[in-house]
Amino acid sequence: FANLGVLWQICLTALSLSSTETLMDSTTATAELGWTVYPVSGSSDNSWEEVSGYDENMNTIRTYQVCNVFDNNQNNWVRTKYIRRRGAQRIHVEMKFSVRDCSSIPNVPGSCKETFNLYYYESDADTANKVSPAWMENPWIKVDTIAADESFSQVDLGGRVMKINTEVRSFGPVSKHGFYLAFQDYGGCMSLIAVRVFYRKCARVIQNGAVFQETLSGAESTSLVASRGVCIPNGEEVDVPIKLYCNGDGEWMVPIGRCMCKAGHEAVENGTVCRACPSAFFKPIQGDASCMQCPINSRTTNEGATNCVCRNGYYRTDSDPIQMPCTTVPSAPQNVLSIVNETSLMLEWQHPRESGGREDVVFNIICKSCGGGRGGCTRCGDNVQFVPRQLGLTEPRVYISDLLAHTQYTFEVQAVNGVSDQSPYSPQYSSVNITTNQAAPSTVSIMHQVSRTVDSITLSWSQPDQPNGVILDYELQYYEKDQTEYNSTIIKSQTNTVVIRGLKSGAIYVFLVRARTVAGFGRYSGKLYFQTMTEEEYNTSIQEKLPLIIGSAAAGLVFLIAVVVIVIVCNRRRGFERADSEYTDKLQHYTSGHMTPGMKIYIDPFTYEDPNEAVREFAKEIDTSCVKIEQVIGAGEFGEVCSGNLRLPGKREMFVAIKTLKSGYTEKQRRDFLSEASIMGQFDHPNVIHLEGVVTKSAPVMIITEFMENGSLDSFLRQNDGQFTVIQLVGMLRGIASGMKYLADMNYVHRDLAARNILVNSNLVCKVSDFGLSRFLEDDTSDPTYTSALGGKIPIRWTAPEAIQYRKFTSASDVWSYGIVMWEVMSYGERPYWDMTNQDVINAIEQDYRLPPPMDCPSALHQLMLDCWQKDRNNRPKFSQIVNNLDKMIRNPNSLKAMTPLSSGVHLPLLDRSVPDFSSFSTVDEWLDAIKMGQYKDNFANADFASFDVVSQMTMDDILSVGVTLAGHQKKILNSVQMMRASINQIQSVEV
Ligand code: AMP
Repeated sequence: FANLGVLWQICLTALSLSSTETLMDSTTATAELGWTVYPVSGSSDNSWEEVSGYDENMNTIRTYQVCNVFDNNQNNWVRTKYIRRRGAQRIHVEMKFSVRDCSSIPNVPGSCKETFNLYYYESDADTANKVSPAWMENPWIKVDTIAADESFSQVDLGGRVMKINTEVRSFGPVSKHGFYLAFQDYGGCMSLIAVRVFYRKCARVIQNGAVFQETLSGAESTSLVASRGVCIPNGEEVDVPIKLYCNGDGEWMVPIGRCMCKAGHEAVENGTVCRACPSAFFKPIQGDASCMQCPINSRTTNEGATNCVCRNGYYRTDSDPIQMPCTTVPSAPQNVLSIVNETSLMLEWQHPRESGGREDVVFNIICKSCGGGRGGCTRCGDNVQFVPRQLGLTEPRVYISDLLAHTQYTFEVQAVNGVSDQSPYSPQYSSVNITTNQAAPSTVSIMHQVSRTVDSITLSWSQPDQPNGVILDYELQYYEKDQTEYNSTIIKSQTNTVVIRGLKSGAIYVFLVRARTVAGFGRYSGKLYFQTMTEEEYNTSIQEKLPLIIGSAAAGLVFLIAVVVIVIVCNRRRGFERADSEYTDKLQHYTSGHMTPGMKIYIDPFTYEDPNEAVREFAKEIDTSCVKIEQVIGAGEFGEVCSGNLRLPGKREMFVAIKTLKSGYTEKQRRDFLSEASIMGQFDHPNVIHLEGVVTKSAPVMIITEFMENGSLDSFLRQNDGQFTVIQLVGMLRGIASGMKYLADMNYVHRDLAARNILVNSNLVCKVSDFGLSRFLEDDTSDPTYTSALGGKIPIRWTAPEAIQYRKFTSASDVWSYGIVMWEVMSYGERPYWDMTNQDVINAIEQDYRLPPPMDCPSALHQLMLDCWQKDRNNRPKFSQIVNNLDKMIRNPNSLKAMTPLSSGVHLPLLDRSVPDFSSFSTVDEWLDAIKMGQYKDNFANADFASFDVVSQMTMDDILSVGVTLAGHQKKILNSVQMMRASINQIQSVEV
């Protein structure tokens, strides 16, 4: 139908470009025409006779006349000479003639005629003679009987009052090489003044950017002859092939399709030429647009440019549009100001004078500690804390803590923007030197029970991460769980182990410990609960180190908590303790596996016409007077994240996290910010962060959630590298899987499951968080973890391939991300795929490469990761299966003993980088940095472990003797030493 429509339109609108080609014209004859006449003249009747005359303009012409009106039975023919067809299919004959009016002739008989007949005869050669073709219809083909419009009554061959008729007739199709025409008179008085024979054609033309060659009209007057156009040089066809139809009148119709100038070329001279863009101009795509001037700081390298390249020292990012000016790196930040407080520091500065023409300037902090005994400055270790973060700071300030006391530091504040990594020079920076003060020791973060009897408990703990001086002694405070702190007992200990005697049997006690140096006491650790043996327990098992079994009848699960219950109480941000929820939390943690039937289904708040309605439905409104903000603990996307207290009427005051919406927000930002609360408010699970409520009726708008003392899982693990048992790590993973199972059962797809979005409380309970949607939106460019993709942003390293490729986000893609979280946990917060670029990660995954097992990772866990990373999402386990699988491992810790040998390539794992090869380092210091044990450089140097030869022979005793006391660190160093030894042996055997 569409085509019919087009044709119809074509039929109606012809372009007036008609032209004709003459095959024969009697008026141009300079001598006699010499046409053949029948009957032969000179016989009794006069037939057609060739006579000279004049046309209207008094030009001499040759005419044929006949006038036998008084004789009956006239049949006078005159035949033209042979006319070549020259490819024409339809022939047009234009005749000029005059006819005498019969009624004007006195006494004329009734046989007088005022018409004549026109015939044609086709022939491949000029073979006609006086008798052939016979002078009759058939073999001749009659075209028409021609009548005069006007006849004349007075013949005046002087030419003065001649009335001339003009008639045109056409015939076709003709197919032989040529033809003759004949005019038959059967009793009239007439003069054939001029005969012109021609055909019609459409002339060569340039239309819609294409050239159409000359095309002859078709055989019928209604024929349309199609002609394919050829784009003019540097033009390209757009969608349909370009065509033009030539009609029977020799006129082109309206074209179908079009050609447009290619990228780098523009249409000029009325669209008949595609000209290359001149220098300093460019055109990025095919089309009608003109060439544009190069953006600022860019230039062309040749004519016909499709883009402009940046001038030296100027750059674009992949996502910068090519119409945008090229930009450069920012200048250094200005006026860096530092305020030192004991071992922490606030740095503030002003934005660089030059932003390089970009709006994505962020700041990085480089920390160097100087004068550590051996001169020069070295990079600070991982333990220094930066709030909100060390790299990619958007605000011109940072809070730095956990520095060493009495130490000189240099901080460089670098300004970088989107094009800094393209510049060959390192970022510009301003630096500041500071010296920290004396400070009390940091909190004891790990305490465990060594043994217990009916009336005693033996406890041991690790030295604080930052002793900030020589530890003089420890102070241990304890009391029975049902009592208050006022009934507590305090004992002192010179060492980090103590036996507490005289306790009640089967009673739960609360313990706190703190360290003391010359600078005074550090803060108390969080509360820890340990229980003495009951008489029955003692009787049934005289062996002290039997496991304590906590059963959970409801879930039908029995969990084993090793006798050495290591409880992490890393409470670095504040000295807060929750009343007595630790036990209940832990029990919840282990019994959260079963589900209530008739589970609720998650409702997307954006399906509400008014998203505020969703907030009212799912989040409790809290009066701002119940909220007391205490301190800023981080930076969220919409404003600061704080800790504080919530006191609801009739309820106990509780510690909470408060996300605020910064002032000056738009209505959309408010909606996006609160959408997180409407999502979170629908969930109720011990491994999903719990929403307490929202403040929307007064400023600032806030989201209030339970407080998670240890912050986000990734940084928590990095701070406690190597410090947990495998069972503890599996316990955390089990919690995350359980929270995800609950979310998947509710049909909620998280899309951004990653260790950074898991929060950890003081009991090591992990909870899924971060239900904000805004980071998926296109316009946020601040966080490099999220890569822009069509229709939103994607954290590439954590995301399943089908979600990256075609945005298929499902619980199965969440399972993929869960596998990555497993890897993050087992590698203590290592960055997945290390420093590979996002594109390299995508390519590697596509080629079936997968992350290798982290150091000390049991094979069973790595196998589970590989299952989560199955290419076909239907083959990945469900979260319920993952929970069951992890439960089995917890019940049967032997299953976690088997380790995957390093770089065994079952699933083509990526090159293993968890233990760097020593041969790529030139000094022991460099090697220690690479295995993240840089804090022991001095210990190694002082004990003369300064060359690889000596280090490679180190035993566990040596490691202890240089002063590595943390079990996790001992293990890591021993492992790396063993790798080094193996490497050296291999090199030596090759040399031999
Ligand atoms: P978010 O905007 O949720 O990523 O929060 C920013 C940072 O604030 C997180 O990385 C955490 O360090 C901290 N944070 C957020 N929520 C809590 C919470 N409930 N308890 C403790 N810290 C939190």
